[in-house]
Formats: sequence, C-alpha cells, structure tokens
Amino acid sequence: MEVLILIGLLLYFLPTIVAESWKKQNADAIFLLNFLLGWTLIGWVISFVWAASSPKITHGGLTSCHKCGEHILRTARRCSFCHQRTF
Ligand SMILES: [Zn+2]
Repeated sequence: MEVLILIGLLLYFLPTIVAESWKKQNADAIFLLNFLLGWTLIGWVISFVWAASSPKITHGGLTSCHKCGEHILRTARRCSFCHQRTF
C-alpha cells in the first residue's frame, strides 16, 4: 500500500522532478502549478509540458557547447574551445 502511495506521489510530482533534475528555469513556478493544479489533470499536463519545454538555467549569459560541453557565451557564433558552430 505504501509503495502505491509513493508511486502515486512520484507520478503526481513528475513535472516538478523533471524541472528540478534538468535544472530548468521556472522550476519553482512549475512546482507551484504542479502542486496546486496537478490534480485537475489539465494542470498536470500544462506543468509537465512547461517543465519539458522551459530553457535550462544558464549562468551569466553562458550556455553549454552542444559538442564539447564547455561553457561559452550564449551569443557566441562559434565555440571558443572546439570551434563548433553554435545555433
Ligand atoms: Zn565546443
């Protein structure tokens, strides 16, 4: 019985878990929507889509190069480490 409750809680807070573990922006707001309106199913779906589509947190205008993973300026056209074009 306890296992079913735990699985239910994990499923209910899946959008929050996704937002937190993928370090998404708005993770706090996603949690609030998930917590307050998750039971309405439509609120759950919205918070899940929001968690999946929201951009990752970047620090000081930096992002990660998709090829080598180094931190580069978000506005950079090429990675300064591996010279891969950014998009
Ligand atoms: Zn790179």
